[in-house]
Amino acid sequence: MSRVPSAAESRRAEIREGLAAARERSGHTVLIGEVELYCDHQGCVARNVTMVVKEYEGATPAALYCPACRRQLKPHGVRTMSEVNDIFDRDARTSVNIQIYKERQRRLGREILGVPGSVICDTRLPGLE
Ligand SMILES: [Zn+2]
Repeated sequence: MSRVPSAAESRRAEIREGLAAARERSGHTVLIGEVELYCDHQGCVARNVTMVVKEYEGATPAALYCPACRRQLKPHGVRTMSEVNDIFDRDARTSVNIQIYKERQRRLGREILGVPGSVICDTRLPGLE
């Protein structure tokens, strides 16, 4: 009969699996990337914790702790550096598209009450079409 793993054991397993999957996606035995974590302790000021990892000297530990309250962090995802860079580039394009929309609205003398979803979700590089 197997026992139910503790929350701490489950978090460690989830981090180990996330790291292994990211190494697999990267095609390398060591990960260069980011681990996104979350502190769910109610009394803690920290929320998201992003750890940049480079596993040249050894594997990333599966038990990761909050720098503010020292409790075990909850994993939210593991990304390869290529994935991190893709997200950064996509977010940069989106940011520019939103700025262009706002500037066009200002030039037309329109009050900006919000940004349409079609602009927020537009990840195309402006000026290439
Ligand atoms: Zn914390």
